[in-house]
Amino acid sequence: MSSRNVLVINSGSSSIKFALVNEDSEQFPIQGLAERLGSSDAVLNWQLGDEKHVAQLHGADHKEAFERLLPLVQKASQGKLTGIGHRVVHGGAHFTEASALNREVIDVIRRAAVLAPLHNPAGLIGIEAAMALYPELTQVAVFDTAFHQTMPAHAYRYAVPEHLYTDHNVRRYGFHGTSHMYVSRKAAVMTGLPVEDSCWLTAHLGNGCSTAAVVNGESLDTSMGLTPLEGLVMGTRSGDVDPSLHNHLARTLGWDTQRIETVLTKESGLLGLSGLSNDMRTLIEAREKGDERATLAIEVFCYRLAKSLAGMACALPRLDGLIFTGGIGENASLVRSKTLDYMRLFNFKLDEAANQKCVRGEGGIISAENHPRVLVIPTNEERQIAIETLALIDAHA
Ligand code: ADP
Repeated sequence: MSSRNVLVINSGSSSIKFALVNEDSEQFPIQGLAERLGSSDAVLNWQLGDEKHVAQLHGADHKEAFERLLPLVQKASQGKLTGIGHRVVHGGAHFTEASALNREVIDVIRRAAVLAPLHNPAGLIGIEAAMALYPELTQVAVFDTAFHQTMPAHAYRYAVPEHLYTDHNVRRYGFHGTSHMYVSRKAAVMTGLPVEDSCWLTAHLGNGCSTAAVVNGESLDTSMGLTPLEGLVMGTRSGDVDPSLHNHLARTLGWDTQRIETVLTKESGLLGLSGLSNDMRTLIEAREKGDERATLAIEVFCYRLAKSLAGMACALPRLDGLIFTGGIGENASLVRSKTLDYMRLFNFKLDEAANQKCVRGEGGIISAENHPRVLVIPTNEERQIAIETLALIDAHA
């Protein structure tokens, strides 16, 4: 049987990120980003093999952008497109795994929008446009939250009155599930352990950041909660703060909830602490030049990450390895070594040469011999979405 291709789509309110995933190849035959959709400077960038291309889209909306990019995808897949996998941020408690898209599933995603008012409606725009253009193709929704649906109640419940949970779905859901799942499975393969008998701490550190405890292929805890604001320090998100901070800011500064949310999600994190940038690369360079605020931002980031990982260890019966992934986790050797320095009781020790070597897509084991295993594994959420899409197509075949 010839190898199959899946188009993976991540649709934002004004963008469509796409990649064609071939089941037998690590390289994407084509990938790209349509952005600023709905505005006069809408643009489509794509990469075909090693060649980069750009086309102006002149005010195109999502559907028009799809009409433009689908022939490119068809050509790159030589007409052999098996399905489309859509990333959906919030599946609520309803979805424990990927689901084939139909009217009913779309309605549940729409209802879950109350939990992700920015992300789910944006995802649905992409889903509806792609379904209108490709009605005959199986399309699958893969949820950021689904992998964490195996968390036990003592990990996902907040200590608030029960009716807020039963009547209003106030609980912890967790995000980045696709990435935590992909890297924990890859780690099992790399170390020769069976997925169903392996225990991992995972740290996905991109613009958004989260940790997870993955035992025997299931997530038992994760640092993000009802929304992706809980937990670690992130690029522009504060992560955990005292819940009374909202009240304090309202009382002392007269801020409304919208203003507080904007500050905590867009003006905080590495950006808020450093006053310089949300980008870890920029902060590492500034630290090397002696910038005190950048130095502090990195220190807070690593200390809080270490604290979260140490807390996640409560969910593990043993530790087979700690995995770093995401743009920061895959590239920033400084962050990896500083974080482990803050976890002294765990006896981690890095092989510094191996740590330095893991950058720009190069992964591997970076721990020194006879110390707990530490791995760098480049994540591949598109590939995981394609794997789940194909598994669902096979199950229905
Ligand atoms: P997203 O969550 O948007 O997918 P990424 O996973 O690409 O983001 O991660 C973006 C982060 O990775 C940024 O903070 C960026 O500075 C950081 N990063 C990328 N390359 C490096 C590098 N060589 N050194 C340090 N940080 C890096």
